[in-house]
Amino acid sequence: MNRQDCIDWNGLETYLSAEVIVCGGGSAGAFAAIAAAREGADVLLVESQGYLGGSAVGALVMPYMTVRVPGEPRCSGLHNELDRRIREYHGEKYIENSFDPVLHGIFLEQMCRENGVRILLHGCVCGAKMEEGMSMEGRESAKKERICAVAVACRDGIRKIEGKIFVDCTGDGSLSVLAGARFEAGHPKTKMNQPMSLRYFVDGVDKEVLGDFLDSLGDPDNARSGRAGGGLFGCVVEKRDSALKPVFRQAVARGDLWEQSMAYWTMFEIPGRKDGLAFNNPEFFDLTDACDPLQLTQLQLRGRAFIYKELQFYKKYFKGFENAYISAVSVVPGIRESRRIHTKYELTAMDVLGQRKCRGCISQCNYPVDVHGGEGLFREELPKGDPEKPWYEIPYDCLVSADVENLLVAGRCIGADFVAQSSVRIQICCHSMGEAAGIAAAMCAASRFLPGQLDGEAVAGRMKEQGADFV
Ligand SMILES: Cc1cc2nc3c(=O)[nH]c(=O)nc-3n(C[C@H](O)[C@H](O)[C@H](O)COP(=O)(O)OP(=O)(O)OC[C@H]3O[C@@H](n4cnc5c(N)ncnc54)[C@H](O)[C@@H]3O)c2cc1C
Repeated sequence: MNRQDCIDWNGLETYLSAEVIVCGGGSAGAFAAIAAAREGADVLLVESQGYLGGSAVGALVMPYMTVRVPGEPRCSGLHNELDRRIREYHGEKYIENSFDPVLHGIFLEQMCRENGVRILLHGCVCGAKMEEGMSMEGRESAKKERICAVAVACRDGIRKIEGKIFVDCTGDGSLSVLAGARFEAGHPKTKMNQPMSLRYFVDGVDKEVLGDFLDSLGDPDNARSGRAGGGLFGCVVEKRDSALKPVFRQAVARGDLWEQSMAYWTMFEIPGRKDGLAFNNPEFFDLTDACDPLQLTQLQLRGRAFIYKELQFYKKYFKGFENAYISAVSVVPGIRESRRIHTKYELTAMDVLGQRKCRGCISQCNYPVDVHGGEGLFREELPKGDPEKPWYEIPYDCLVSADVENLLVAGRCIGADFVAQSSVRIQICCHSMGEAAGIAAAMCAASRFLPGQLDGEAVAGRMKEQGADFV
């Protein structure tokens, strides 16, 4: 029995309804909701946590990785608007492409308010009510189904929310799966997902002293004060040598650090936080299944134990940490990938590495293939197929559910293979996908078109009119 079959739909009154229901208010979802509302749609954004911004806020994931197209930002209009707010707030202290997560969430809420998005927080989508659809291109040429309502688990029980067009921005593709859509998960052979991480911030650091220590190591690629620009930075990863590695090894040998802390460790600055640093670790090669509640529990519990030990390590082996303390730990797990939903077109490794161009392009990117993990999983590779136009493109069709006729998907769970997903998951691309899905949802809500009947060129054209700087 499907876990949602226990929902008694007949016993549920409609709690809320809207033309466009966006499920998940993270990097993709907040942008989808704002974009749809800006296009004039009546939009409800349903988010399971108590804030907007998803991983960028709750999992402390920053800075924005850039799309790495030489000389061009290639961002969506809404991303540019968000970046303008961050820039204005920080003034001279602004760090290119970086942001304070708390501020990021507040600015998303401002943008939702200004565009008339209605928001339901603390509502976890846990069921989808299906009915027969209108289009004929479904599985085995049968009619596709459509979602007419979602069940949302709230503190006082389950509530029903009705809508016309739905956008799945849950990261895990949960709405799609609840609606019966097909999906893939993990590496094609091993089915293993990439490792999860639990990120944290440390405050009370004397950055002058730490900067001198880092510069004294003579390895500016992996340890630097940032006085020459770009901010303070430190890095130890399993696959590369760095001047900090012997320091870590010594601590592991003495029992002052657990070996897994060396798998992937990075340290960098947070704009506007005078003595604060962000850490993109610990990362656990054995915790990879984001849809397994027990693994998520392990991640939070083990993660916090590692973070405490890492702070003691900095105090003993680094300089500048005498008065340092843990100021924030991710309240949600750091999930790089879980499910990838079947869509009308699914982006492949060949598309990414071959820098393939497409019709209906909603995002241009040149970010490397970035598969985290140990042997059999790790892969880093640069797209390089088109030296004249060095980027690949994501088509609108990657956002159109293959199985459910009134459903769009945006964010890290779009239709892409394992390798392609490792590049397209960066936040700037998720922002573009969200904006495209929101525009498409509004177009469908205002017409008789279904997402699969829209021309991607029309969506891309509207993105450009709204300030996207794609070519
Ligand atoms: C450890 C780590 C480091 C990373 N580093 C970087 C980096 O430095 N730079 C970069 O650009 N990218 C980085 N990424 C990638 C990037 O952060 C993510 O891929 C991106 O944020 C995903 O956006 P999303 O909107 O798809 O998902 P999310 O931002 O995770 O949003 C999903 C939202 O849906 C909500 N939700 C989930 N299920 C439900 C439900 N059933 N009902 C209602 N709401 C639900 C969640 O609470 C969440 O708010 C990193 C990722 C990780 C995990």
